[in-house]
Amino acid sequence: MARVKQSEVNIGMVGHVDHGKTSLTKQLTGVWTDTHSEELKRGISIRLGYADCEIRKCPKCPEPEAYTVNPVCPRCGSKTRIIRKVSFVDAPGHETLMATMLSGASLMDGAILVIAANEECPQPQTKEHLMALDALGIKNIIIVQNKIDLVDEEKAKENYKQIKEFVKGTVAENAPIIPVSAHHGANIDVLLKAIEDFIPTPERDTELPPRMYVARSFDINKPGSEIKDLKGGVIGGSIIQGVLEVGKEIEIKPGLKVIEGNKTHWEPIITKITSLGVGGSKVKKAYPGGLVGVGTELDPALTKSDALSGSVAGEPGTLPETLDKITIKAHLLERIVGSKEELTIEPLKSNEVLMLNVGTATTVGVILSARNDIADIKLKLPICADKGDRVAMSRRVGSRWRLIGYGIIQ
Ligand code: GDP
Ligand code: MG
Repeated sequence: MARVKQSEVNIGMVGHVDHGKTSLTKQLTGVWTDTHSEELKRGISIRLGYADCEIRKCPKCPEPEAYTVNPVCPRCGSKTRIIRKVSFVDAPGHETLMATMLSGASLMDGAILVIAANEECPQPQTKEHLMALDALGIKNIIIVQNKIDLVDEEKAKENYKQIKEFVKGTVAENAPIIPVSAHHGANIDVLLKAIEDFIPTPERDTELPPRMYVARSFDINKPGSEIKDLKGGVIGGSIIQGVLEVGKEIEIKPGLKVIEGNKTHWEPIITKITSLGVGGSKVKKAYPGGLVGVGTELDPALTKSDALSGSVAGEPGTLPETLDKITIKAHLLERIVGSKEELTIEPLKSNEVLMLNVGTATTVGVILSARNDIADIKLKLPICADKGDRVAMSRRVGSRWRLIGYGIIQ
């Protein structure tokens, strides 16, 4: 039950579809995160995939060659020692899955932007994902120039110049650019060193009341289980502050929709933590970083099929309010970047419908009134959020939701 088992930082894998995010995650963790049948069939990631990685160092070899994920140094055969355990959050790169990418981004402490060297840069979601990192305030970014095995030196340099030009004036302006072949495992040592240098573990205040963003929820019982064998509902996500502990109560918000007459309201759920799982091990206490599975006493019908994803869980009485109306101060981008044709972003308008991502929650809202950069928005599904929280805003353009900027809850 040692603390060392849990990852201490979440690193997002973001970028355009097919540029190699899932392959790079596999190279770093040994885990192929596309496991659902639909993902395997279509060859793309649909859900968020989490995978853990131990960054290790050989005591004898020089840097950066000393960095590896192997318990034994591939160069000299010495036993390596663990420097840090990190978790990768593999996000889908397909343009129709921006909501999933955005809910994943709320869990990222830093990110690796994967760009294929054998394509023009930037591709639409290369841009849209970088904008999303910027909008959500993720500053620690590493750029991986992947598929370096598919280009000659001249092409690689030309692509490098395109990347440099593309990131100019963005949060990634000074991000290191590391040529990699995820396929052949080339330059992974340099990438590991960059992760150590550029994506530090954030300061965590363990005294704060625990709070978790729920990214998934499940019913883990096999169909036809006997009632006496039934296990309670499980929620999974990342702790953003504090410490969760087996035996303690937790509150989950917004919770359950209750309809009385023609009025609906949301009632928080309170339950007890019966188990905690991190990185495949059971623990008594769970900390920020990585995916945490929380076993509860809840009826599994409440948690099945991600029914509670997007909720916030934490110490009873300490969670933010459940809001069905918010006022935001909007920060709009200049242009819509997710598609080939880049349209100018018009100001927010009354009555328009937006997709909003707050934490891991995705909701739709109608603008009641918009004046300058302040907008009042009525939400279809309520969110549990604080003043000052960031809201990623997307607008419907043609048949897709496109990121148009972010707002701060007032
Ligand atoms: P994702 O959509 O960004 O997750 O991309 P995947 O990891 O699924 O990779 C897309 C395709 O590119 C797959 O066919 C991979 O085998 C291939 N691929 C990924 N990385 C490399 C690389 O470094 N070199 C080459 N040659 N192919 C790669
Ligand atoms: Mg993928």
